[in-house]
Amino acid sequence: MSAVGRVTVVGNGVAGWSCAARLGERGVDVTMVGPGLPHDRPPLSKRALVSGRVPLLADADRLTEKGVRHVDGRVVDCDFATHRLVIDDGSEIEADQIVWATGLAYPRPPVAGIALAAENTTGATMLDLTARTAVEGRDVVVIGAGLIGSETAATLAGRHRVTLVDMLDRPLARLHPTASAAAARTLADLGVTFLAEARIEEITASSVRTSTHGTLPCDVAVSAAGFRTSLPTALAPDGRSLTVDVDERLRVVGTTDVFACGDCIAFPHPRHGRLQIPHWDHALYSGRHAADSLLGDDTPYVREPYYFSDIGPLRIQQVGLATAAAEWRVEDGLTIGRDDVGRIVAVLFLNAPARLREARELVAAGANP
Ligand SMILES: Cc1cc2nc3c(=O)[nH]c(=O)nc-3n(C[C@H](O)[C@H](O)[C@H](O)COP(=O)(O)OP(=O)(O)OC[C@H]3O[C@@H](n4cnc5c(N)ncnc54)[C@H](O)[C@@H]3O)c2cc1C
Repeated sequence: MSAVGRVTVVGNGVAGWSCAARLGERGVDVTMVGPGLPHDRPPLSKRALVSGRVPLLADADRLTEKGVRHVDGRVVDCDFATHRLVIDDGSEIEADQIVWATGLAYPRPPVAGIALAAENTTGATMLDLTARTAVEGRDVVVIGAGLIGSETAATLAGRHRVTLVDMLDRPLARLHPTASAAAARTLADLGVTFLAEARIEEITASSVRTSTHGTLPCDVAVSAAGFRTSLPTALAPDGRSLTVDVDERLRVVGTTDVFACGDCIAFPHPRHGRLQIPHWDHALYSGRHAADSLLGDDTPYVREPYYFSDIGPLRIQQVGLATAAAEWRVEDGLTIGRDDVGRIVAVLFLNAPARLREARELVAAGANP
């Protein structure tokens, strides 16, 4: 048994689960709070939307095996001075240490009729979308052509007529033009109609009315636009910050016994300064790292940004920080970004999963020339 006290992990996604499981394995008294069984997110817009199966990270047996107590609910109030957490059923938990891992929240855009739209960000919303698209050949309108919207559109295009709309001029418009162009081509090949610079006025039971592209027939609208914070006021006093600042051991700045991990943190990256990485790989590794820090390990958390995306048959992967690149060049099939003194800061590659290690090594070499 370790010297750590009773730990409560708030959040049951990949960060919360990887933290709780590691603590449980080491004999720590650990409680994980979150709605439903812990499940993963990336498969929701890919194979889970086809199979209709929620990608569980653990079932009841696995929770027991790992020694993790699960409270099925949401934390609605917290006092970090006294370490008390209030759950939505009115019960309270008192912890010695707390780990915050609530990810991001996915708001709907302020559009008339948006309540009629489905979503695809949790197991429950994926199941609802699967039920609404059970009958083949529906007119589906996906609102938002970021990663989740583009992946969802590509997956649904196998059985439905899919229109993808965005306020911006191309799918994945915030990513590198190589990724964006490849996504646009793949979506078109899959039969997805992309409508650029669209302004939606109203969603009804049978249509999406726009001021830019007329009225679109629509049996199922899917909202896939944007993020907002999941943090309580105690961690995001302005109510807007997506992330809470943590130190290099993932302890929340200004606290002694509160740690955080996953999508909801900004950590001090040795090369890029304070960084948030809203992607799966960082969630997994920061969850494990928060557990190790609690167990007394002083190693700083260092992880290069990495994301993958599957838009139908197209696999996009990127290691490093694209916004740190001053120029990009294609070299031997990799799109390589360098900073203003020529060091590699990011590597983007398409349909080449076997090159991940090489990409990581290039970015690591750029960090330690
Ligand atoms: C549909 C989808 C597809 C994705 N695909 C990819 C991909 O292909 N590649 C990639 O790199 N990344 C992908 N991502 C992003 C990746 O899944 C996230 O970075 C990762 O899930 C973050 O993990 P997390 O544990 O920090 O947060 P989450 O996975 O969001 O988990 C947070 C959990 O906390 C719970 N929670 C929130 N508030 C409370 C509260 N007050 N009390 C208790 N529990 C609470 C939530 O219900 C949720 O279960 C995808 C995300 C989505 C939604």
